[in-house]
Amino acid sequence: MGRERTLAIIKPDAVKQRAMGPILQRYEEEGFRIVEMKLARLTKAEAETFYAVHRARPFFQSLISFMISGPVVVVLLEGERAVERHRTLMGATDPAKAAEGTLRKRYGKSIEENAVHGSDSEATAKDEIAFFFGAAAVSP
Ligand code: ATP
Ligand code: MG
Repeated sequence: MGRERTLAIIKPDAVKQRAMGPILQRYEEEGFRIVEMKLARLTKAEAETFYAVHRARPFFQSLISFMISGPVVVVLLEGERAVERHRTLMGATDPAKAAEGTLRKRYGKSIEENAVHGSDSEATAKDEIAFFFGAAAVSP
């Protein structure tokens, strides 16, 4: 019981510093199952749609430029309470405030270049999984 899916993105800064391997290894070590995965270069339109909730924020254009600056790895993770457990593994948005042992503490460089994305609720996870992998991938 409690098995669910969440969407992770290994962001361009992490791919550039050759951290995709260690991050994927960490997902496996923490007990997540990798259900789907793809290396992709997001288009500007895809990045804008994905982060549409932040459209009015002052950092929006900078965030979009960052997200399309290089390849990302889009990962569909499954596990017990996957959404919440993945958010905990990521750490705080600002790597300077992230707890020891979290991915953002280890690999993040700034509040923008913070290494990984993770769905922030079960509802968001469903939307984000459907966006990248189709509606059939949403449920375990
Ligand atoms: P994500 O949605 O990427 O998992 P999050 O949920 O921790 O991160 P959000 O508030 O949703 O944080 O912000 C989305 C992304 O926008 C952040 O991960 C970061 O890359 C960028 N961002 C957030 N706040 C700022 C800021 N103040 N300045 C620059 N970039 C920011
Ligand atoms: Mg978010």
